[in-house]
Amino acid sequence: MYRTHTCGELRIEDVSKEVILSGWVQKIRDKGGMLWIDLRDRYGITQLIFDESKADAGLIRKARSLGREYVIQATGNVIERFSKNPNIPTGEIEIVVSKLTVLNPSKVPPFTIENETDGGEDLRMKFRYLDLRRVVVRKNIQLRHKLMQHTRSYLDSQQFIEIETPVLIKSTPEGARDFVVPSRMNPGEFYALPQSPQTFKQLLMISGFDKYYQIVKCFRDEDLRADRQPEFTQIDCEMSFVTRDDVLNTFEGLIKHLFSIVLNIKLDAFPKMTYDDAIKMYGTDKPDIRFGMKFVELNHLVKGKGFQVFDNSRLIAGINATGCAGYSRKQLDALTDYVKRPQVGAKGLVYVKYNEDGTFKSSVDKFFNQEQLANWAEHFQAKPGDLMLILAGDPSATRTALSVLRLYMGKTLNQIDNRKFLPLWVVDFPLLEWDEETRRYYAMHHPFTSAKPEDIEKLDTDPGEVKANAYDLVINGVEIGGGSIRIHDRKLQQKMFDALGFTEEEANQQFGFLLNAFNYGAPPHGGIAFGFDRLCALFGGADSIRDFIAFPKNNSGRDVMIDSPAPISEEQLKELAIKMR
Ligand code: ASP
Repeated sequence: MYRTHTCGELRIEDVSKEVILSGWVQKIRDKGGMLWIDLRDRYGITQLIFDESKADAGLIRKARSLGREYVIQATGNVIERFSKNPNIPTGEIEIVVSKLTVLNPSKVPPFTIENETDGGEDLRMKFRYLDLRRVVVRKNIQLRHKLMQHTRSYLDSQQFIEIETPVLIKSTPEGARDFVVPSRMNPGEFYALPQSPQTFKQLLMISGFDKYYQIVKCFRDEDLRADRQPEFTQIDCEMSFVTRDDVLNTFEGLIKHLFSIVLNIKLDAFPKMTYDDAIKMYGTDKPDIRFGMKFVELNHLVKGKGFQVFDNSRLIAGINATGCAGYSRKQLDALTDYVKRPQVGAKGLVYVKYNEDGTFKSSVDKFFNQEQLANWAEHFQAKPGDLMLILAGDPSATRTALSVLRLYMGKTLNQIDNRKFLPLWVVDFPLLEWDEETRRYYAMHHPFTSAKPEDIEKLDTDPGEVKANAYDLVINGVEIGGGSIRIHDRKLQQKMFDALGFTEEEANQQFGFLLNAFNYGAPPHGGIAFGFDRLCALFGGADSIRDFIAFPKNNSGRDVMIDSPAPISEEQLKELAIKMR
């Protein structure tokens, strides 16, 4: 028997029991006559004590020979501690060790296995199995487990069936880039790894499963950022005979359940905002609504007054920074530099200070008098002491830049409450997105998303104006999920492919299986998928999803621990009928 108890289990009630513990040596404190060892396992830490005056010399020698991260087994008696540690659950007891066995020695770990480690990111990733021993990282993985289990039990309670869909599928040109896998048995042909199980889950609706879900790996060969991984996990769902609001209600239920059971937070009903409103008021389709500073548009007030920048701009809009009228020249210059950085992309920044004495001081005093500035202030609902920050230019770029400035000011002014979670449904996305480079429309969500019924006619005349029956769930400015009501009519699907510039032949070649299936009684259906890694990071209060994935890839898509991707042998290449340059 390796152990009678775990390292997180023993309490004051266990005093005088004879126990056996196994675990890793976290820390050794050698005070001459006395020696203490913190023994760690997944469940906690228990203190072992060795008293030179009482114990056998051999035992003491053995204890002194241990190093950090040795795996040991200790047998001994539970006693009440002299100086208790209220910070850990086992802090009232310690074990007087009578027998010590080294189960496996350890090299000195390349970084300290502590919450505040001295290991850099690269080193920690190379030795990820050691990194995972750190309590903070282990807790993230346990949180992930918990969210996964509660997602499953909730969806099961709502009659959803978990069904696995294939991982070796077919490459299609829509969406992101595919990862492909060569087929040995079919030389020169390739599978693709799924970017999502989209078409399969729709086929399952045609099969009559009615409610499907899957916690599933998806693969996208995109450039990486902090919140992206080439392989990531989705909670993927689909339902039949549902309207948009049926889907939203069901999954609002799931998210509320998870918040309540995992974080003990009761969420209010999720508000809905149209995509157009989100863009107009926040400049982004994933607004953080934990704070105000909504955009104010000024076109009608500021044009034609001789200020070229405004006169030549299609949009002039700003935000009101409360209490910032006292900003110094230096602070304003810094803000200007901030918005002019290429990542933000504004050409300049116009400011108007609403002084405490009711006067105005602006960077455009030459063109606008006090009365005009007072009029702007009224629009901003600004008060004495506030600072209005205004950007101008092309509408889309201006809104994007202003949304970055809004977030920056929100953070700077401490207006974002980190303990708050404010979910939001963003609805009525555009169906199509025009791409100037390839001069064609792309599906904003994916080609299986239906248009709002009242907009279908516009598909022929004004495709860019058609709204989709699509929705995103946004929490605290992070896109957590997205989905849509699907097309279930063959003709309509064909029409959509037309709008996307597919010939009938191309559509048939790539999605013939789905178009065909639509001939056999496809029910009305819709669904959603949640980014599970992001959900975990949100619950764990972190920005990066990486710490919530046991074995993540780095920014270049590499697993530095197993050293992948890696070349394969000539032999293998030949077998796969792949010629290298
Ligand atoms: N398959 C979609 C995605 O991965 C989600 C959905 O429409 O259900 O974004």
